[in-house]
Amino acid sequence: MSLIIDVHGHYTTAPKALEEWRNKQIAGIKDPAAMPKVSELKISDDELRETIETNQLAKMKERGSDITLFSPRASFMAHHIGDFQVSSTWAAICNELCYRVSQLFPDNFVPVAMLPQSPGVDPATSIPELVKCVEQYGNVGINLNPDPSGGHWTSPPLSDKVWYPIYEKMVEYDIPAMIHVSTSCNACFHTTGAHYLNADTTAFMQCLTSDLFKDFPTLKFLIPHGGGAVPYHWGRFRGLAQELKKPLLTEHLLNNIYFDTCVYHQPGIDLLTQVIPVKNILFASEMIGAVRGIDPETGHYFDDTKRYIESTLNLNADERHQVYEGNARRVFSRLDAKLKSQGR
Ligand SMILES: [Zn+2]
Repeated sequence: MSLIIDVHGHYTTAPKALEEWRNKQIAGIKDPAAMPKVSELKISDDELRETIETNQLAKMKERGSDITLFSPRASFMAHHIGDFQVSSTWAAICNELCYRVSQLFPDNFVPVAMLPQSPGVDPATSIPELVKCVEQYGNVGINLNPDPSGGHWTSPPLSDKVWYPIYEKMVEYDIPAMIHVSTSCNACFHTTGAHYLNADTTAFMQCLTSDLFKDFPTLKFLIPHGGGAVPYHWGRFRGLAQELKKPLLTEHLLNNIYFDTCVYHQPGIDLLTQVIPVKNILFASEMIGAVRGIDPETGHYFDDTKRYIESTLNLNADERHQVYEGNARRVFSRLDAKLKSQGR
């Protein structure tokens, strides 16, 4: 029996007090007298417990997953709001909540950090929060936003040296980054329907056109939402790599880039598992997240992605084990160490 490890979950069900505090913080950007103190946010362990037990944990039990890598709500990161100080305070609050959830449910939740990114600010400023989350909170990965502007793409590509201090720290700790944008404030891009998938595809192409992984041979990126358009257009990407005189994608990118299974229908998972090597696919559902309804064609939740993994004809039992557990332990080595310390 495999442990079923879901590498992509966010605290989308945090107590209302969090959102209320955030709204006050946003109001405080224009009116500093209204800026709330961190100490004004009070959320008890019982409140945290309740929001998890009645939501994520209930669904994990129903659907049969064991562990969720748990990060702050992605759309709430909203790095475009305010300055670095605003982001920094907000990230610290959100990361602490995920850490507390992981302490309350040590068998089921393992924290992954958001970073206090801010448009136009040196990404290296995020390092102290990253260090705290890894060293004090036991975070096993980070979410890295390639576009803190929220849909205007004002940052240099992920291959730019401005990002290197973050990568150096990731390599030092051996933690992967999920490449994850936040709310779109560009009316052209719906947040979860366009901006997220655009970013997944964009991040992959930024890596393809660069030699980033020559500089960082052990750097690991997890591209969520099934890799955006990447698996579907694998031939296009292979052909472009060839024209650009890059090595085969298996050598150029697939020692460093991984994809999750947040694809919400069977044909999508069939394609993903047919095109992308099994060693590069990690189980995930992003539950409770972007798509919360029931698929009328199947009668099951769209984001109950385990059903698709179980049903696909492209995976044998050993390959399923890799997708559910083996790959997650390899990519998130700190998760593996943590599980081993728990005797799992
Ligand atoms: Zn997500």
